[in-house]
Amino acid sequence: MCPSTPAANATVFLGMITPAGQVAYVTPQLPADVALATADPDRPVESQLRLAGPCVTTSCGFWTGAHCGLGERLAASYQETTGETEAELPRCAIRRSCRWYAEQGRSACAACSYVVTDAR
Ligand code: SF4
Repeated sequence: MCPSTPAANATVFLGMITPAGQVAYVTPQLPADVALATADPDRPVESQLRLAGPCVTTSCGFWTGAHCGLGERLAASYQETTGETEAELPRCAIRRSCRWYAEQGRSACAACSYVVTDAR
């Protein structure tokens, strides 16, 4: 599952973006429609919510041909910036099916909470 997908592809409401720009994860898992119905229509929904949905592999610009290049970049950049490779895992509803976690492990989760899909 892609943990940072546009609303049009979303099936799961992963969390809210807080005023500080971090994700407040929602557990247990909720359908994306629940959150989409409450989003402010005057702002891009992906700037308010983190949404997850099926990974579209070759239809995504981040797909390298073998894995998600965005998850890889995020994990590497978090490690470079903080020097940390192991951080406390957030309580996240999709961990068992998350592509970033499957490919990058715990360092993906550490970086994940700072990702805003549409940061306009
Ligand atoms: S990277 Fe980690 S915290 Fe983010 S969605 Fe995947 S499993 Fe959840």
